[in-house]
Amino acid sequence: MVGKLLIIGFGPGSFDHITKRAQEAIQESDYIIGYKTYVELIENLLTDQEIISTGMSEEVSRAQAAVRVAEEGKTVAVISSGDAGVYGMAGLVYEVLIEKGWKEESGVSVEVVPGISAINSCASLLGAPIMHDACTISLSDHLTPWELIEKRIDAAGQADFVISLYNPKSGRRTRQIQEAQRILLKYREPNTPVGLVKSAYREREEIVITDLENMLNYDIGMLTTVIIGNSSTFLYDNKIITPRGYQRKYTLNTKDQRLKPHERLRKENEPWALHKGKNDMTNVETEASEAEKVGDVPHTTSLELAEEALSLLDGVSAERQGVKTVSNPMVSIFEFAISPGIVNKQFSPKQMIALAEVVGEEGSIEYTTHHQMHLRIPTANPEVITEKIKNAGFIIEPLGDVFQLKACDFCDGEKKDSIPYAEELHQNLSGLELPKGLKVGFNGCGMACYGAVNDDIGIVFRKGKFDLFLGAKTVGRTAHAGQPVAEGIEPNKIVEVIEKIIYEYKEKGHPNERFFKYFKRVEKIQGFVHQDMTPKIEIEPAPCGD
Ligand code: SAH
Repeated sequence: MVGKLLIIGFGPGSFDHITKRAQEAIQESDYIIGYKTYVELIENLLTDQEIISTGMSEEVSRAQAAVRVAEEGKTVAVISSGDAGVYGMAGLVYEVLIEKGWKEESGVSVEVVPGISAINSCASLLGAPIMHDACTISLSDHLTPWELIEKRIDAAGQADFVISLYNPKSGRRTRQIQEAQRILLKYREPNTPVGLVKSAYREREEIVITDLENMLNYDIGMLTTVIIGNSSTFLYDNKIITPRGYQRKYTLNTKDQRLKPHERLRKENEPWALHKGKNDMTNVETEASEAEKVGDVPHTTSLELAEEALSLLDGVSAERQGVKTVSNPMVSIFEFAISPGIVNKQFSPKQMIALAEVVGEEGSIEYTTHHQMHLRIPTANPEVITEKIKNAGFIIEPLGDVFQLKACDFCDGEKKDSIPYAEELHQNLSGLELPKGLKVGFNGCGMACYGAVNDDIGIVFRKGKFDLFLGAKTVGRTAHAGQPVAEGIEPNKIVEVIEKIIYEYKEKGHPNERFFKYFKRVEKIQGFVHQDMTPKIEIEPAPCGD
């Protein structure tokens, strides 16, 4: 009969945080082997298991005993706090097995049952300090030379990892944590947030939020995990938060991030990433790091210098308050659309120059299908940019799920009677957030050569009055024009009619529901009855069969 080794991590120490599999595994076993304190922690789970509990430093003999009993055909649970594979018993048990020439096929069976490690349980009590690239370092130099530990602290400090220190201090080992602090202060600000969690999720739990400079003024012991933030970690309402990314993207005027999933990974939206190919932003990165090597500041415009100065000031005031708070003005990608006018489609040379200056070397300009320029500009100060764009006479529009008006050029103003209505609609509704992006086409004569009938809502001026088209499906195999729902709407009514339709959709549309789908679902919008415009055409399969 082949025995079984269950190597179990039971989490931080509270019953609620033991996994179901760990509970079952403990109950399945004939023997429990573990450090006394840990056996006591799981006492309530035990039925008739035999307990082999040992002292703290007897890990090797514990592993040997476990293997021996398993080889006798028993099921043996070896328990570790947190995760058994993180400074726990898992590696040790495997080492003992390997020493004996164990092979999975023929030897005792082994199952490692994962548990919540201290880095996770302690982080959860501090806010969200880990979030980004992080590492664990044990300061115990009983089994690892201090020289190597020192090297790892240094490297982690330099590489800006969030660091979780296990085994930070004991009765005899008191200098290690002092050394760790000294090394990290070479790379991190004294006000870098630090969390000290003692006995997470146990009876004597203690949580301290402090900073790198002051962390040694608090009690740190064998049951403490020390979590040290990276250079962007900040403190908010007594929580330690490490931002998910170093750079953020934001758009004009909208609360949420409006980059569509497929747009987020584009090169121009992530200029800081390592991209393939030659003609990309990696050159910029190389230049920046070269500059840093010679002690230069990579950013040189007066705006950036001013921002840097401000951020230093911010740092000073935060320091006075103690721990570092939200301060660094992060460069983010600012995204929005511009056009030279609602009716005007012409750019002046002066406007082109202003545009080039604002966008600079690192931004991008994309001409869209909606007669707009889509700008993406890395900046820490979007207001300065919008100001310059407005001064150049552009119309600025947010991106994302908002109202957008596309008007024709009214034959360069010759057919100008309806222009005021287009402008009024733009003024009243521009940037209005909606369940899904909504394009309203506004054309100045019955020709509708700017394709208003193919927009979500089409408005066509004809013989002094307006025709209205609703619910075009602009993309896909079943694309179709909007349904003509009314003709001859009086000019003094058109703005009101359109606003009512749009506000109804805003209020009652489901998130992400396109206008044509909404119209189809509710069947009637502001009295206009839906008719199915989906083309009913049988498409023959291709002769070749695919
Ligand atoms: N296997 C364990 C780690 C064992 S090393 C795990 O994955 O969590 C022992 C160290 O773990 C302690 O010195 C302490 O730094 C940390 N630790 C373990 N349990 C903890 C708890 N409940 N609260 C805080 N730190 C804990």
